[in-house]
Amino acid sequence: MMSTMQDVPLLVSRILRHGSTVHATATVTTWTGEAEPQRRTFAEIHTRAARLAHALRGLGVSEGDVTGTLMWNNAEHVEAYYAVPCMGAVLHTLNLRLPAEQLVWIINHAADRVIIVNGSLIPLLAPLLPQLTSVEHVVVSGPGDRAPLDGAKVQVHEYEELLAGQPDTYDWPELDERRAAALCYTSGTTGDPKGVVYSHRSIYLHSMQINMAQSMGLTHDDTTLVVVPQFHVNAWGFPHATFMTGVSMLMPDRFLQPGPLADMIERERPTHAAAVPTIWQGLLGELLARPRDVSSLTQVTIGGSACPKSLMEAYDRLGVRLYHAWGMTETSPLGTVARPPSGLGADEDLGYRLSQGRFPAGVEARLVGPGGDLLPWDGTSAGELEVRGPWIAGAYYGGADAEPLRPEDKFSADGWLKTGDVGVINPDGYLTLTDRAKDVIKSGGEWISSVELENALMGHPDVVEAAVVAVPDDRWGERPLATVVLKEGATADHTALREFLSEAGIAKWQLPERWAIVPAVPKTSVGKFDKKVIRRQYAEGQLD
Ligand code: ADP
Repeated sequence: MMSTMQDVPLLVSRILRHGSTVHATATVTTWTGEAEPQRRTFAEIHTRAARLAHALRGLGVSEGDVTGTLMWNNAEHVEAYYAVPCMGAVLHTLNLRLPAEQLVWIINHAADRVIIVNGSLIPLLAPLLPQLTSVEHVVVSGPGDRAPLDGAKVQVHEYEELLAGQPDTYDWPELDERRAAALCYTSGTTGDPKGVVYSHRSIYLHSMQINMAQSMGLTHDDTTLVVVPQFHVNAWGFPHATFMTGVSMLMPDRFLQPGPLADMIERERPTHAAAVPTIWQGLLGELLARPRDVSSLTQVTIGGSACPKSLMEAYDRLGVRLYHAWGMTETSPLGTVARPPSGLGADEDLGYRLSQGRFPAGVEARLVGPGGDLLPWDGTSAGELEVRGPWIAGAYYGGADAEPLRPEDKFSADGWLKTGDVGVINPDGYLTLTDRAKDVIKSGGEWISSVELENALMGHPDVVEAAVVAVPDDRWGERPLATVVLKEGATADHTALREFLSEAGIAKWQLPERWAIVPAVPKTSVGKFDKKVIRRQYAEGQLD
């Protein structure tokens, strides 16, 4: 028997219509660096998205065509987030921190026909244009010198001029909910970047999950500071989820340095914020050096890499509760959120918040041991995490005329995503990651968690950052190398740091014998420790 329920497709345009009517007065505020930020209501965003869709159609964009964005987090980027998928085209967010050759590769692979670029990013785009094979139009938004685009063999347009005079409404098509809405490439730490294509349905369901009380649980009383970039994994889903519940957004644009972030929190008083640990680490230093009122922040989402215990404790002292979340480009990204049960003592509560968190109903999980056997959720059996669900990728984009890609190291034979993350799951469904499969240190048949060593080291008062990688060792196969950034004027040496680790409970055989004090830890395009670079530096003798 089939159901008797309405078969209403789950479309991004439904999220837009809802947000711009029921929550018409919620706002997107963009930091401009001027005396006043720019403010737009959700209703205005819808009107402008409709105008943008008409303008893109005028440039020849039709259903299924790919439009790229090379933009910061701002209102215009939100407009593109809605205009492009709602008209049936595909939004391709371009990670502006990717190396030039990878940007060229992904733009050509996705066959972007139009690129919307922020004026401040023209110096990044202009030199790439001669190598781009599919781009016909570049649309420029916001301040920045246009001169580098002079003489380019593409048509260049001004965003505001294109929107002017366009109709205020668009008859958004009733699409198949499984069609492509947005495309995001992984940062290609190994080989070419891989494209994940989100559907209207996956975005809709993921947005609902983001809003659930045990995920972000934000309401129309909240304002969220969206530091996580719109150019990577849909800014963790906030531009869509907020339109479902009327949460206002505060967008930092290009002002991502700790000083301006602290200023915007003090002035605009967001109740929530989302960013990777390196951003929170930087902001902490700023707040300790030049205190600001951050009391509006009742909760913060932190993820993308493991949050060190010392960082969470430092924010607890400032009265700001950090909640850990785990996910990846392939998981839209929400995979788990670490909301502890209530009524716990402070230590236990912190322990739960430092786990990666609990799986929501839409994310099925299993742990797979080295021999392919399924492991129990007993809090001690460690294996690779595999997941499946309606907002989890089942393949990568193969290109316009090619089949989707299902590499064996990323997808199991029965269709689960192999996350490459190693961890344990407690009987109550909380995940704790111990490492990425490729970062774990295999020493004499035993595994050493690089993350555990890093977190312990970052608890030392002299240490700003610490990254631990596996390096080859004749006797043990691999041993840990600890690279450490010290605070200015700090004097701790490796003997003191080893001693500190030992006191923190790290087993003797896990203590690193190789150390390097470095000025900075190299970072990937999305602000994570770039362990590939550290391993290379070591191999080239730069860290001896
Ligand atoms: P990449 O870093 O490969 O470009 P993603 O941004 O998709 O791509 O990163 C996903 C990975 O980031 C996860 O597989 C996991 O290793 C790591 N990660 C994300 N969130 C967390 C977290 N809360 N704790 C530890 N690791 C995390």
